[in-house]
Amino acid sequence: HSNGNSNQSAASLNTPPIKFTKLFINGNFVDSISGKTFDTIDPRTEEVITKVSLGGAEDVDLAVKAARHAFDHGPWPRMSGSERGKIMMKFADLIEENAEELAALDAVNGGKLFTLCKLIDIPSATKALRYYGGAADKIHGTVLKLSKGLQGYTLREPIGVVGSIIPWNFPTVMFFMKTAPALAAGCTIVLKPAEQTPLSALYYAHLAKLAGVPDGVLNVVNGYGSTAGAAISSHMDIDKVTFTGSTEVGRMIMTAAAASNLKPVSLELGGKSPLLIFDDADIDQAADIVFRGMFFNKGEICVASSRVYVQEGIYEKLKKKLVEKAKATVVGDPFDPKVHQGPQINKKQFERILSYIEHGKREGATLLTGGKHVGEKGYYIEPTIFSDVKDDMIIAKEEIFGPVMSLMKFKTMEEAIKRANNTTYGLAAGIVTKNLNVANTVSRSIRAGMVWINCYTAFDVDCPYGGYKMSGFGRDYGLDGLNQYLQVKSVVTPIFDSPW
Ligand code: NAD
Repeated sequence: HSNGNSNQSAASLNTPPIKFTKLFINGNFVDSISGKTFDTIDPRTEEVITKVSLGGAEDVDLAVKAARHAFDHGPWPRMSGSERGKIMMKFADLIEENAEELAALDAVNGGKLFTLCKLIDIPSATKALRYYGGAADKIHGTVLKLSKGLQGYTLREPIGVVGSIIPWNFPTVMFFMKTAPALAAGCTIVLKPAEQTPLSALYYAHLAKLAGVPDGVLNVVNGYGSTAGAAISSHMDIDKVTFTGSTEVGRMIMTAAAASNLKPVSLELGGKSPLLIFDDADIDQAADIVFRGMFFNKGEICVASSRVYVQEGIYEKLKKKLVEKAKATVVGDPFDPKVHQGPQINKKQFERILSYIEHGKREGATLLTGGKHVGEKGYYIEPTIFSDVKDDMIIAKEEIFGPVMSLMKFKTMEEAIKRANNTTYGLAAGIVTKNLNVANTVSRSIRAGMVWINCYTAFDVDCPYGGYKMSGFGRDYGLDGLNQYLQVKSVVTPIFDSPW
């Protein structure tokens, strides 16, 4: 593995200009009411990139007032869907024009590969805006077949002021996964980015304004979860909360929503996703899928295939291939095009991942490769693979959220299904096989919101995405994602003047 430390000079050269650091409320960049700021850190160097305004409950309150006013009295929910769509398309164009700079912001702030930010993260924003922008003038209800003497129809109305709380692993993807459908629906938004990655969201707020999104429609309040985040989930004037992050915080958000105004919530939470490799699989294809499934975005992805079940006939061969791939992985500066894996997001996650690796060793799993941090500075960790992992080991049960893979062996399909489902989570799963019967049986037997057959992490804005069990509920993306921001109103009237 290359040494993260040796890339420090390159790292400092690649820091993009930081243009926006304040809160974005009611169409303006403003200081927080307290005047406080917080440091945002470059995970490559552990050094401060810049100071960012620290929003608290009082700033959230201001943002909600702006969003409420924009919803109750502003043009956004009242203009035609096609007009909203047009503004969203313009927003997408502006993102494309600034793609390099935006990709650099996510790379420097999140330790994410610059080339992949350009290839995946930033295009996901424009795709979401165009997909939902195109749907904005196709939102309509149904005609109801009521009993004699009555006629009726449903209206689908925007749900109102939406609070969005998002994580740090995909700052851009998450921003648009939550805001694009809400904007299309005619909602107004108060969004809190993760405190680890506050930068690109502010840039998007600026571009939204340039595109013509009216003041108050899209507000961005950076701040900590326990203060700004909690103020959103417990706010009496927010009509819905959408959250992506840990199961633990999802539970707190649901509790706060219940204890305040009973606002509906949708939660996309953690996972411990199984990936099942059957004996008949093509070994190279399987190795690629498994490797990427786990190590994409340095394992900081909620659908990571962190439980890999391999059928006994292919187990040894696949193990060998995966170790080769891990050894060939270059860990280092995410701006360097030769690098495959950047630093973990922060010190807390870095230490947490290393402690899980220690757990794995202590519990008797075999450390095939990796296991150590790389370099002296920056949160770099080697891609790590354990074999001989037992289903009840901590590393097989808890979400590690880092580059740590657990390999487990199975004999029969029935056994694999049973073990794959033996988890409190249900976010995603994968199957690699050429056997259609196996693919169909397994995909229908696994209790997870997303099943990939002969691929993994294949996301698309048209494909609904969300969890079963303790991975949460509600669906992002697809038209199901749009429905989360709509209310159904039934309108009923007698056909003729009648005694109703
Ligand atoms: P987190 O759940 O604490 O943070 C996610 C978001 O929730 C952030 O914006 C945070 O500020 C906010 N938040 C935190 N506490 C809150 C509260 N009480 N009320 C309202 N909002 C609150 O995640 P984390 O601590 O950054 O990471 C911990 C673990 O969460 C990771 O190891 C991983 O297992 C999981 N995680 C999952 C995802 C995902 O995409 N599903 C993303 C990030 C982290």
